[in-house]
Amino acid sequence: MTKYQMIQESHDCIQWFKHGDHPAVTEFNSPFKGKCRACGEDMTIHGWIKLFSDDFELTAICPGNWIVTSIGGCEEIWSDIAFKKVFK
Ligand SMILES: [Zn+2]
Repeated sequence: MTKYQMIQESHDCIQWFKHGDHPAVTEFNSPFKGKCRACGEDMTIHGWIKLFSDDFELTAICPGNWIVTSIGGCEEIWSDIAFKKVFK
């Protein structure tokens, strides 16, 4: 496996906590109302964001996660722990 270093040095990043923090996040609207498997918090305080992988995929975002926008305009979700290891 070959290792690559990212060329781009700056990204637009927003730490999401609540609705209104990022225009791409909509209210969590799902019949599933339990606890989040990632953070353990109630799903009603989460948001939905469309991410581009092979196709646009609707993904839940946890409060405190970071939304990183690439140079091509695609958003990625990073946990706070992972974000602080990679970004400064
Ligand atoms: Zn969560």
